[in-house]
Amino acid sequence: MHNMASLLLFDPQNLRLDDLPAVRAAADSGVSVVPLFVMDDDTARPLGGAARWWLHHALADLAAQLTALGSRLILRRGATQDVVHALARDIGAESVFLTRAYDAPWADMQSALHSALGEDGIKVKRYAGPYLFEPEAIKTQEGKPYTVFSPFWKNCLSQPEPPRPGDAPDALRVPDSWPESNDLDDFELLPTTPDWAGGLRDSWTPTRAGGLARMQDFLDEAAAKYKDRRDRPDMDGTSRLSPYLRFGQIGIREVFWAGEDAIALDGGAEKGVRKFLAELGWREFSAHLLYHFPDMRTAPLRENFENFPWEKGPSPELEAWQKGRTGFPFVDAGLRQLWHTGWMHNRVRMVVASFLVKEMLWHWHDGEAWFWDTLVDADAATNAASWQWAAGCGADAAPYFRIFNPMTQGEKFDPKGDYVRQWVLELKDMPAKHIHTPWEAPEDVLKEAGVTLGDTYPKPILDRRDARERALAAFETVKAKPGRLTK
Ligand SMILES: Cc1cc2nc3c(=O)[nH]c(=O)nc-3n(C[C@H](O)[C@H](O)[C@H](O)COP(=O)(O)OP(=O)(O)OC[C@H]3O[C@@H](n4cnc5c(N)ncnc54)[C@H](O)[C@@H]3O)c2cc1C
Repeated sequence: MHNMASLLLFDPQNLRLDDLPAVRAAADSGVSVVPLFVMDDDTARPLGGAARWWLHHALADLAAQLTALGSRLILRRGATQDVVHALARDIGAESVFLTRAYDAPWADMQSALHSALGEDGIKVKRYAGPYLFEPEAIKTQEGKPYTVFSPFWKNCLSQPEPPRPGDAPDALRVPDSWPESNDLDDFELLPTTPDWAGGLRDSWTPTRAGGLARMQDFLDEAAAKYKDRRDRPDMDGTSRLSPYLRFGQIGIREVFWAGEDAIALDGGAEKGVRKFLAELGWREFSAHLLYHFPDMRTAPLRENFENFPWEKGPSPELEAWQKGRTGFPFVDAGLRQLWHTGWMHNRVRMVVASFLVKEMLWHWHDGEAWFWDTLVDADAATNAASWQWAAGCGADAAPYFRIFNPMTQGEKFDPKGDYVRQWVLELKDMPAKHIHTPWEAPEDVLKEAGVTLGDTYPKPILDRRDARERALAAFETVKAKPGRLTK
């Protein structure tokens, strides 16, 4: 007898079988299931280089999990709507199971797919995915979106608890015959000439098992101390789960409930774990903002920043920042950590971003684009929201004139200089006292450490006092016209 068929569409935010309602629904539907991933560089902004590297491994891992169930992952390339429509017709699908997208280009595509397939009598069934709360559920008393984090998260925590994660199905019914598939290598997601991914390979296990192990280690070892250590880039104090969450290799409900269970087991860990769970709240908040302000990647949330005289585009200065050659050790350490591992500690992300936009007066768009290309956790919502926050034009942003001082930030959060020593090898023999301010070090100290400023390590690319005055003068030109957030 001919098997009824369905498509199960995976996407780059939801690459797992556990805790994914669309997978569960497809498995329980009783019809045969064709799991599909579409490599789509057309519908929205293409992924950056580091994220493509991660995606390759996440897809290989997902395909292996499906094979273990006796199923397969079909790979195709093109615009998702066209590919899904054509394949659904070819296999005579009665339905397509997918996970809801919240970012406008993907969300619009899903609506268009729903209409187009509806005309052919094929149902699109959409399920909740990468967030704990649906954006419509969280609104202010006036029914508006939140633009300040604390009341947003308070509201989230007053909602019914997110459901416990569900397990992966034991089996997926297979079709009578499998449609054709690309090979993963056809997508050319890994860098070849040159192969710059060595640092990424050394730093990560980009599989679900790697993420689960990381989560367990974090909850066992670091979570209890998270509150005190989360700002210390010289310590292994945060979870480093961001790329696993970004690609949905671990579900957000899995992390949330693992945290709650850790508290139930060990009350002593509560403070640390609660703080950690609140960081997941920032992830929700960023998604909430992108959902309500779909142009957030390009348009400042505070519209009075629209004509701010930022510097823009490629230049030696921008390149010095990108490559970690600004002459400010804490900034350079962060940017080199990013280049080498595809990840940077949150405290340092804030400092390097502030340095670019408030001291170099560079447009946050250039910083956002660099992070998009180099972060393994590059995420449309969080990256844009965080850059806007750093530039002072975003939601809940610190006032523009509050500028992080990269030297005092370094002295406070990397007191012995170990983080700088790890990433800025030219300074590895500098004593702690001078490691964040080598230009103030006496000649003999520099000599002993083998440092010649302007030769072995750059002199500072700017004079911070001038920069601060320039920044404040530029800020004066921003007319205080009411923006979307400045009612
Ligand atoms: C300029 C700038 C750009 C950023 N771009 C991204 C990005 O593209 N993708 C991304 O995932 N994070 C981004 N962040 C947020 C944050 O730096 C990272 O999420 C965090 O460093 C990841 O490390 P972790 O997993 O060890 O975090 P943990 O401290 O262990 O936090 C747990 C999880 O909470 C979430 N989270 C933590 N901090 C934040 C935050 N400030 N905003 C939103 N979610 C958060 C992440 O999913 C993270 O994995 C950016 C921050 C800044 C200042």
